Amino acid sequence: MSRSIETLCVHGDGHRFADSRESLSMPIYQTAAFGHPDLGHSPDRFYYTRLTNPTRTHLEETVAALEGAAAAVAFTSGMAAITAVFELFSPGDRILCSADLYGGTVLLFDSIGRKNGLILDLVDSTDPALVENAMTPETKAIYIETPSNPMMNVTDIAACAEIAKKFGAWLIVDNTFLSPYLQNPIALGADIVIHSGTKYLAGHNDTISGFVCIADAALEEKLRKISYTLGATLAPMDAWLTERGIKTLPVRMEHQQKSAMAIAQWLKGHPRVKKVYYVGLPEHPGYAVNAKQSRGAGAMLSFTVESPELAQQVLAKVQIITFAESLGGPESLITFPATQTHADVSPEDREKLGITDCFLRMSVGLENTQDLIADLEQAMA
Ligand SMILES: *Cc1c(COP(=O)(O)O)cnc(C)c1O
Repeated sequence: MSRSIETLCVHGDGHRFADSRESLSMPIYQTAAFGHPDLGHSPDRFYYTRLTNPTRTHLEETVAALEGAAAAVAFTSGMAAITAVFELFSPGDRILCSADLYGGTVLLFDSIGRKNGLILDLVDSTDPALVENAMTPETKAIYIETPSNPMMNVTDIAACAEIAKKFGAWLIVDNTFLSPYLQNPIALGADIVIHSGTKYLAGHNDTISGFVCIADAALEEKLRKISYTLGATLAPMDAWLTERGIKTLPVRMEHQQKSAMAIAQWLKGHPRVKKVYYVGLPEHPGYAVNAKQSRGAGAMLSFTVESPELAQQVLAKVQIITFAESLGGPESLITFPATQTHADVSPEDREKLGITDCFLRMSVGLENTQDLIADLEQAMA
């Protein structure tokens, strides 16, 4: 029987490994190891939790179903997931990235990727022609985020998949911002999908996790070996928290993106706001591409205010919204990318990207929409 995404979030795809007592909530197998029945017989598929654990396996099967992936591997964080993906490459390989990436990913490339001989090329991926021009015979992957963090730039996933295929490279998509509820890059031709499960998937600002989803089952063994030799596999408790969160992903996302749209509209009409970056607004340059490849605009938005002083005032005066990094949880958060999420990006590069001292990023949470607008209003007065 076919299952819609809401049903997949609650039940998985029906092929999911089940707890033998059929508990509705998967038990937390808080154990380091599993006993062997006798010599020559391994215990089911579970030996040692760094390799496999039933709670984690249950979650991985859910996430794979949500992304339409052959498999998903769960990591201790989004960064651990990205680290594992980098380990799939060899020294001398080039990776072509969107110029506007999550700050941690840029730092990882600079501090470890480069040391391991990977060569990073940056491109404005909003234009497929520029992406194609930047490809070289050594380019082994195109790595994108769409919408991007924090500029909300939109990249055409299917167009990039086609370019990648032409050059025998992979397309890797960090799908954290829209979540599998709103966007499924594998269906658009991506080879690898990355998630920070910390954000919308777990969705409660109470745990850290990450995923690598793969389109091709042939890659699973290699990726699993990397995951358990790096030792960054997700702990049972955090796997359980992430799966508990996923059950409500659709209702959370619906509320959050409805609120984000209302807030974006309100900000647009505010005299002290210079520009609003939200892919749900028809005037956003990526609106049409996002509408074509996703089922919504998500709940992340950025905006610039009239002066650096006003940006500082907003951060100091918000009462319901918290000045904090991260995103995707029930609590609305506002951050100042110039010194927070993108502190490691050089001032020149920040300026080029548009991350100025007047620029704020907001993750719209689950509070009442009018309360959030009233909070922004008093903070900007
Ligand atoms: C947060 C985030 C990451 C890193 O995830 P962690 O769980 O914090 O390690 C990667 N990509 C994007 C887009 C993110 O928002």
